[in-house]
Amino acid sequence: MSAAMLFINGEVVTVDSEFSVREAVAIEENKIIAVGTNEEILAQGSEGSTIINLEGRSILPGFIDAHAHLELYGTNKLGVNGKEAGSIKELLVKLKEKVKTTPAGEWIRGWGYNQNHYEEGRHLTRWDLDQVSTDHPIIVVRTCGHISCVNSKALELAGIDPQAEDPNGGKYVRENGEMTGLLMESAHMNMFLFANYSKEEVQQGLALASEDYLEKGITSVHDAGGYGPDHIRFLQEAVSARRIKQRIYALYGSLHDSPGMVAKGLESGIRTGLGDDWMKIGPAKVFIDGSSSGPTAKTREPYTNNPDDSGILYLNKQQLNESLGKAHKDGWQITAHAIGDEAVEMMIEAIRTALEVEPRQDHRHRIEHSGITPPDLLQRMKDLEVIPIPNPAFIYEFGDGYIRDYGGRVNSIFPLRSFSEYGVPFAIGSDSPITSVDPIHGIYTAVTRRSNSGNIIGAGQRITVQEAIKAYTWNGAYASFEEHVKGSIEPGKLADLVILNGSILTCELDRLRELKVECTILDGEIEYAAKKEGVT
Ligand SMILES: [Zn+2]
Repeated sequence: MSAAMLFINGEVVTVDSEFSVREAVAIEENKIIAVGTNEEILAQGSEGSTIINLEGRSILPGFIDAHAHLELYGTNKLGVNGKEAGSIKELLVKLKEKVKTTPAGEWIRGWGYNQNHYEEGRHLTRWDLDQVSTDHPIIVVRTCGHISCVNSKALELAGIDPQAEDPNGGKYVRENGEMTGLLMESAHMNMFLFANYSKEEVQQGLALASEDYLEKGITSVHDAGGYGPDHIRFLQEAVSARRIKQRIYALYGSLHDSPGMVAKGLESGIRTGLGDDWMKIGPAKVFIDGSSSGPTAKTREPYTNNPDDSGILYLNKQQLNESLGKAHKDGWQITAHAIGDEAVEMMIEAIRTALEVEPRQDHRHRIEHSGITPPDLLQRMKDLEVIPIPNPAFIYEFGDGYIRDYGGRVNSIFPLRSFSEYGVPFAIGSDSPITSVDPIHGIYTAVTRRSNSGNIIGAGQRITVQEAIKAYTWNGAYASFEEHVKGSIEPGKLADLVILNGSILTCELDRLRELKVECTILDGEIEYAAKKEGVT
């Protein structure tokens, strides 16, 4: 038999059940055909084979990002990047630049501002944005994706008058009875849907996102949704046109009216698992609470620095149990966005109730984020076989704010060490564009729990590099019922692989982030190769 590509002299991180590390691997067409010593793999070769000498560098299963938003990441790239500004003043200058090339009446969009990182130390207001333009509607989304600020023109176009009542699960922030333009949670989601990008822009965005994710070694994405009801169709179009190169597991929900979207999915008669190796329908997903950094997450105890606030709920228990209970009964995998401990507990209870009514083996129900998860909840997750999808990169981005908002509870935020000890299989998601999509960065944050200022947030929850790699590969495959076809380097599995520019297992922890992806192989094809020292 002739092997198309033989990788030898490598650090082959197989992520098999023993986490064994081998020297070499062979792939042919779109499958892995052999793993072993250099001699064993070279014996697979024939005249037509390509031999690639890895010189000690790591080759891993392609990374699986278990929670990311391709559409949001991609369309953000079309707007103004507020993360690159250090102050409101600077952001306004960037927005004014965009006005120059945008016809009056069309949307100006920005994203990524964070009042905690801006010089002024306060949220944006519509009066700030009115200085940019009163002829264009303007929306700037906060870095968390749960809050935005709009100008007066946007409020006017959306028909939100000064007396408007707050929507369910959201808030129009007011000062002295006047709207400031700041929109919280569902108020933001409604506005964002109203301001949404065109179909063409979404397709353009998806292609940009896919390319960036490939550069980071990501070969599968659990897509966590967009704003509109057309999102799944947009994904499907982009996958079949190969604008999206990765394999997609599409969470079925919406950032806007998630129970409504789930109900439509149930009506249509489809269920989790429909599709093929390139795109599958994932779990039914609803939103329970807000974000960790707003903070708007629903917590059992009030925020440490504000005894009057314990976050926002999108749904009450009854609505949650009804929406996801039906989905479970219809055979769907179910999941929910839950960040605060009260929200996480609500989801655990929803899963328990659903299973009580309709017992099912191997359901693999998930909890997206599973932010604050104290010990009493861990045991219940273990008993119910729930899969959490944590985002350790949040700790880097927002960790210092967590100390202010949650105090000692930081020891239970994304508690990866505890998940491991309780035997709860967790799959890591970046929640890109909320944080960097780079899995190497994700692994770094999981093993160091360092914030961007260098503080260690909840030191007891650090895990090993091996555990973090598993959470980015095999566990991701498990969370989508696909561990038999991907997630490890074993004969018969899909040839989705990533090659780094060094050894991830012997690299000093503090230097992990210097590792780069050299090559991403998807379905046996080299889809990305770093320019300077590509392996081809
Ligand atoms: Zn998300």
